[in-house]
Amino acid sequence: MRELRPRKIGVLALQGDFKEHAASLRDLGAELREVRTPGELREIDALVIPGGESTTIARLLLAYELHEPIRGLGARGFPIWGTCAGAIMLGTDVRTLDRPSLGLLPMTIDRNAYGRQVDSFEADLDPGPLGGDPLRAIFIRAPRIRSVEAGVSVLLELEGEPVAVRYGSLLATTFHPELSGDSRMHAYFLDQCVASAEREEVARDVS
Ligand code: GLN
Repeated sequence: MRELRPRKIGVLALQGDFKEHAASLRDLGAELREVRTPGELREIDALVIPGGESTTIARLLLAYELHEPIRGLGARGFPIWGTCAGAIMLGTDVRTLDRPSLGLLPMTIDRNAYGRQVDSFEADLDPGPLGGDPLRAIFIRAPRIRSVEAGVSVLLELEGEPVAVRYGSLLATTFHPELSGDSRMHAYFLDQCVASAEREEVARDVS
């Protein structure tokens, strides 16, 4: 019988707003670990790649020898959530990134794609599977998801374009749920992506 214990969620802590994600997840009862080394990946049940600057994060993932281990985990069904720059890192087809992305989530995503004059804005989204009131979403020099391939579910949209997508245990949001004081997106990651990976692991254990 699997022992019940708090989930250990890793937050990639190379650059960006990882502290805010950690606070939101801790409020939901998760144990948090800041991840900066490959060894730290062994201590966690799921990983969040925060917003920041994707060119910097991409460079640091290679420099800290985290790129391959994270890519390998994601390809094997390990839950990973990328927000904004983190979403860019997950994409398979990323235009204008000068280093390789992790290439795990089959979508085309463009960096800084809302144009300069509207670098940052907020919008109320239909909460879709999150339920409840409209979701206030904060977009900061956000990327745009141009297309998704078969098997990717669109969870939330802004004016008909995907802004939150899920592919198995992988989740990508182009906005910043960790900055709005609304924990529904973090709860979704824990209750859906992390929980479904755990169920699959249980199924593997007993098969
Ligand atoms: N513009 C950033 C990039 O391309 C992403 C912005 C963010 O994460 N808030 O990496």
